[in-house]
Amino acid sequence: MKSINLSWVSQTSLTNLNSGEGGSNYIDVKKYKWQGEEYPYVSGQAMRFYLKEAIRRQEDYKLSCIPNDKGESCGDVENCQLCDLFGFMTTKKKEGRSKGNAMIRVSPVKVSPAIGLLPFDENSNVDFLTRKKRDTLNTTELGGDIVNVEMGMNIYKCGIAIDVVRIGREEVIAEGERRTLKLTDLINEEERKNRIINVMNAVLNIADYSKQARLLTDFTPDFLICSAQNVYNHKLQKAIEMNDIALNIQRFKEVIKEVIDEGGTVYVGMRAGLFENEEEIIDACRGLGIEVKQPNEVIKEISKKVTEDVIS
Ligand SMILES: [Zn+2]
Repeated sequence: MKSINLSWVSQTSLTNLNSGEGGSNYIDVKKYKWQGEEYPYVSGQAMRFYLKEAIRRQEDYKLSCIPNDKGESCGDVENCQLCDLFGFMTTKKKEGRSKGNAMIRVSPVKVSPAIGLLPFDENSNVDFLTRKKRDTLNTTELGGDIVNVEMGMNIYKCGIAIDVVRIGREEVIAEGERRTLKLTDLINEEERKNRIINVMNAVLNIADYSKQARLLTDFTPDFLICSAQNVYNHKLQKAIEMNDIALNIQRFKEVIKEVIDEGGTVYVGMRAGLFENEEEIIDACRGLGIEVKQPNEVIKEISKKVTEDVIS
């Protein structure tokens, strides 16, 4: 197994998962434009943060570092699962006479932005909240700013690709007759598998978004497809496309078939009540030899495959 892809769709209630630039008293929603219409989105950076927090919560806190005041993480791939999974850019401590170097690890876990699929204007509202200034908290003075918060309901598509080969490993250049890349194991295979499974479980537990004290959003998958692949690519991310509230079946079948033809195993999970063409989806999956289950069951199954298979 060389890579794992997850792609999912989640329907939210009224929320503001990622604020845009806004003004001092206006908290807007980040938006992109497509054919002249505005749609909300959550940046890839915000999604990575939410996933990291979910992983931190799932495990002993000691296994994940917190960046310092310069935003630098510990860089200890062996002992810190977040630095292993999500990479880092940090300054190496000076050792002996050598100069301090910048140390960079490219993230083996790639995260897409969460893209809203329904136009924002038709599904949004502006609410207000009062924000007390910190320096007035202990006074008897009432008041504070009125802040307007833009909120919307939407259906978002998100994705993750895991570069299995690089989890728990470091790329080093092997000097010889030819310069080549060599991967050095920093942890054992069992721990590598644990970390991969942690990432997938985090998708089921993703929660620490901004403004949750009064918005309580659930952003977990209503429709989820996962692939365990013997090649590394992001192809599965193109399988989900919607026509209104229905899944584009033709495209879904084409992409899944291609992943299967490459030797991949694909799992599909669906909660009832999102897509208008649920029966068609179940039929299409049956035709591809896939039994549709619940999203959490799908994560369980692919985790089992990771545990039992040899990973590259
Ligand atoms: Zn770390």
